[in-house]
Amino acid sequence: MASLSFKAALVYLMDMSQSSFLSPENAPEKAENAAGRVQVMVPAPVPRAYDYALPEGMDLAVGDYVSVPLGRRDMPGVVWATGAGDPAVDPRKIKTVLQKFSAVPPMPETHRQFLERVARYTMSDLGAVLKMSLSVPEALLPPKTVPAYTRAATVPQKLPPQRQKVADLLSDGVPRRAVDIARATGCSAAIVRGMAAAGQIAAASVAAPVPCRMVDLSAGKLDFSPAQREAAEALRSMVVADRFAAVLLDGVTGSGKTEVYFEAVAAALAVGKQALILLPEISLSAQFLERFARRFGVSPALWHSEVPAAQRRLTWQGVAEGRTKVVVGARSALFLPFANLGVVVVDEEHDASYKQEEGVMYHARDMAVLRARLGHFPAVLVSATPSLETMANVKTGKYAYLRLPARHGGAKLPDMHVVDLRRDPPARQRFIAPPLLAALKQNLEAGEQSILFLNRRGYAPLTLCRTCGHRFQCPSCTTWLVEHRRYGRLQCHHCGHAQKMPAACPACHDEGSFAACGPGVERIQEEVHDLLPEARTLVLASDIVTSPNMIRDAIRQIEEQKVDIVIGTQIVAKGHHFPGLTLVGVVDADLGLAGGDLRAGERTFQLLHQVSGRAGRGEKPGRVYIQTFMPEQNVIRALAANDRDAFLETEAAERERAGMPPFGKLASLILSSADQMKLEEFCRHLARIAPRYDDIRILGPAEAPLAFLRGKHRRRFLIRAGREVHIQKYLSEWLDGIKTPSSVQLRIDIDPQSFF
Ligand code: ADP
Ligand code: ZN
Repeated sequence: MASLSFKAALVYLMDMSQSSFLSPENAPEKAENAAGRVQVMVPAPVPRAYDYALPEGMDLAVGDYVSVPLGRRDMPGVVWATGAGDPAVDPRKIKTVLQKFSAVPPMPETHRQFLERVARYTMSDLGAVLKMSLSVPEALLPPKTVPAYTRAATVPQKLPPQRQKVADLLSDGVPRRAVDIARATGCSAAIVRGMAAAGQIAAASVAAPVPCRMVDLSAGKLDFSPAQREAAEALRSMVVADRFAAVLLDGVTGSGKTEVYFEAVAAALAVGKQALILLPEISLSAQFLERFARRFGVSPALWHSEVPAAQRRLTWQGVAEGRTKVVVGARSALFLPFANLGVVVVDEEHDASYKQEEGVMYHARDMAVLRARLGHFPAVLVSATPSLETMANVKTGKYAYLRLPARHGGAKLPDMHVVDLRRDPPARQRFIAPPLLAALKQNLEAGEQSILFLNRRGYAPLTLCRTCGHRFQCPSCTTWLVEHRRYGRLQCHHCGHAQKMPAACPACHDEGSFAACGPGVERIQEEVHDLLPEARTLVLASDIVTSPNMIRDAIRQIEEQKVDIVIGTQIVAKGHHFPGLTLVGVVDADLGLAGGDLRAGERTFQLLHQVSGRAGRGEKPGRVYIQTFMPEQNVIRALAANDRDAFLETEAAERERAGMPPFGKLASLILSSADQMKLEEFCRHLARIAPRYDDIRILGPAEAPLAFLRGKHRRRFLIRAGREVHIQKYLSEWLDGIKTPSSVQLRIDIDPQSFF
């Protein structure tokens, strides 16, 4: 139902720039010559495999990578089954497989099962899920080569000792890269090149080496505390048991969780298997990679959106062949066709970025657990602020539980102070209240660093005209435009629309009448400059530090104490370890609590807990100031008391009472269209035909909170069901066979995380 027709899939394929990367010669034309048939799944939004004829002399097995014609293009694909899938198809219409890719091993059965299960769970087309696995189709071609050297045709008689070593090494006829020769013989690469120039060795080529092959399991092993040792031992025995398990590794930031799960990775590698570590994209920091390299003596293979295509191709091949041992990646790394995966780690398992919100809407944490189940190995979920879902699974005994009780080396948790903005308001047009300002001043005088945290980019979230009240709104979305003063622009944070800040009000043409309402990080920086002019400040926000290099630079500046006050959005919350940082000020703790999102409390708690954890990680103790208008709110109280478990319990009790996840199931239908009439008509139709059951409630259709987004009107249904309900089955019963008008888009979101 969510699938395109075959014809629509073709149109889609026309847009795929990477297609016809192959033009095979002499592809057989006639299907009648074919020896048999196979069913090939292509990476396009189609629900099932299509039949193709097997050309004479080609042997194909399930899992083989092939190229097939689809429409007027060639597509890569995977043999999903042998024999005819659809005997009714006119044999003259069946096209023939063009080529088999023999450079890579076939897609493992476990991986195919995984893709099928993901498609079924998320109610997506199998082809769309396969596309996530075939994200670098060039990887199917023989590997790229790099320059190398081998023995010369005639072996030179007398050589100086160093050169003789090189000649001896190469006498086996195996070509090697200059760096490998240099490493093996202890001579410089220049000598190798000199010998080649003198004809003493010959130029050759070898396949480019795949990343992360040789891992040193004992490189940077630490002396563990008893609690760490116990947890590491438990993980190790799960890995060697060759059985599925899911386990939560729980512990405050700095308790050594990373070091402990590195032991699970080591255990998998020790028995010849591969390991996958998933991180929220934003935490794939240089700091993490350095730690990995310290522990294992090599860099891991990296997998995320910024990795260049050539590197991705090598990693894909190395993973498929089983030669690349460890991948550290964002959620999409889950779809790499591992030859022999032995453990998957999901660090920061509670992080919302594990949910993919476009295309196939999957949750990487949950799919990692599924992957582990199919592959008979453990999934290790790691967090200092576990999600309610994971905690519920621990409570019922579905997931095992390991806890690290304290920060390593006895560093203390920071002191928490709640600033009640009703009692201690900031000055007019200011946002830093007196208690926080005093603490900042004191920290500055003591030469210690501070963070001001505000999860809002730009200068001000709303601009209005004081004369006529005009407000700047996005032309394509129901949102206000955010002023970015540094760029002189107004921007929409949902669709990217940007316009120059005009000189006069577009409604009343008054000049100089604009008022900025509310703060963004840029405005906080301005305030710090006014109030503490001697402080050196740095703004960390994704629109300002836009590349990994810029982030690295910023972090280095902070580490080298060149910055006194960091003003940042959530990118300051994650992962970083700044020993000189002793004060965290949360400018607006209530920001995330507005809006009534199901997980608003949980997310705010996680974020503020994480950002608080940046304070006092070194020798000196830390302090946290939380500015709020609602000091009695659950989240704020739990943060102030450093009582995570109490928070989780009240939150869980509330969810249970409301029948909300993890105590009930949710799914969303999101409908959008440029044509509001058609959209509303179709929504009414859907509501009318929805099957009724006692334990299933349908809310909606309702205007989505973002009722207008990127030029389209949006409506939502929310389906709430009991925990035992098979919600996908219900949705199929409701939606299978319905005809969605071509101007309306219908998307299904199972276990929705966002509700806008
Ligand atoms: P978490 O992942 O729980 O935040 P980490 O594994 O990052 O904790 O550990 C925090 C810091 O303490 C790191 O710098 C780490 O190298 C160090 N550390 C943890 N355990 C030990 C240990 N047993 N010996 C020495 N250093 C340790
Ligand atoms: Zn917009």
